[in-house]
Amino acid sequence: MREVDLRSDTVTHPTPEMREAMAAAEVGDDVFGDDPTLNRLEAMAAERLGKEAAVFVASGTMGNLVSILSHAQRGDEIIIGDRSHIFRSEAGGASALGGVAYNTIRNDDRGLLDPDEVEAAIKPANVHYTRTAMIGLENTHNAAGGAVLTVEDTRAVAEVARRHEIPLHLDGARIFNASVALETPVSELAADADSVTFCLSKGLSCPIGSIICGGNEFIQEARRWRKVVGGSMRQVGIIAAAGIVALDSMVERLAEDHANARKLANGLAQIPGISIEPDKLPTNLVFFEITDGDPAGLARKINERGIKGGSPMRRWRFVTHYGITSGDIDYALDVMDSVMRENAAS
Ligand SMILES: *Cc1c(COP(=O)(O)O)cnc(C)c1O
Repeated sequence: MREVDLRSDTVTHPTPEMREAMAAAEVGDDVFGDDPTLNRLEAMAAERLGKEAAVFVASGTMGNLVSILSHAQRGDEIIIGDRSHIFRSEAGGASALGGVAYNTIRNDDRGLLDPDEVEAAIKPANVHYTRTAMIGLENTHNAAGGAVLTVEDTRAVAEVARRHEIPLHLDGARIFNASVALETPVSELAADADSVTFCLSKGLSCPIGSIICGGNEFIQEARRWRKVVGGSMRQVGIIAAAGIVALDSMVERLAEDHANARKLANGLAQIPGISIEPDKLPTNLVFFEITDGDPAGLARKINERGIKGGSPMRRWRFVTHYGITSGDIDYALDVMDSVMRENAAS
């Protein structure tokens, strides 16, 4: 049976070219700074993002955590969106491990923060208050359907941050998707952020890893906090080799994922029992509502026909990625259409 895994772009496997590069990678002990392949990847990443330095971490969650721990101290707070990945999907790490409080403000339906609301949320210097130690944005915004933040969107919040001398962190897990969708270099999208993280392990198809980029001093601090959370590793070149291939050859092809996402969204919009507003500028995340029938039962039915994805909730997310072809989208739409029609008839 055909299998189409639409659960996430994290299911991507390393490409044959990555496997070769990994097998051949020159390695050393990264805790001594001796791994030439990782050093090369970090230098490439820093240059690509337009920052002075970069540090490799095990995951996007670790990247955000280490960034927060490097910006904030115990008893400080960070201002982030109420639908941000940091707030909703990282197990409260900054508070559990760093004693850092979350001050959430409203994410609009594009995942933006209103600069005035950010400014109003910043605490004045006063012994009663927590110190605001970081402001966080997310690009693309996961919960907002992979929506992209433009350079201007980020700048509007950065201006507030700068005025109050508070660092701006950008959770750019999928910033390369934003860059391809907007046809804007990642360095421009990251220019106003003091720190930025991105994932190699999602649409870029690497097996493992994320990277934090920022100024020299900040990255030095991040290396220390990475050690604190047990994230310093040894012959990392084995996985860094895949990252080099990704930055060299897996970025431009994200446009294919976006085209497939658009085709999927337009197709889903034609199917009864599904509510979706196809995004005019899609990336690779397609969110929609099951308005008719039992979502858990429907998910089981599509799973039986090889479509991995769906959930017991009404809001579903399908993700396009390397390995999903235009033909797979046709198949997925066929299955969704027949399952939803059977559902409507029963
Ligand atoms: C996936 C994701 C992360 C975390 O990445 P992991 O590697 O899964 O820990 C962080 N932020 C956003 C917006 C994400 O989508």
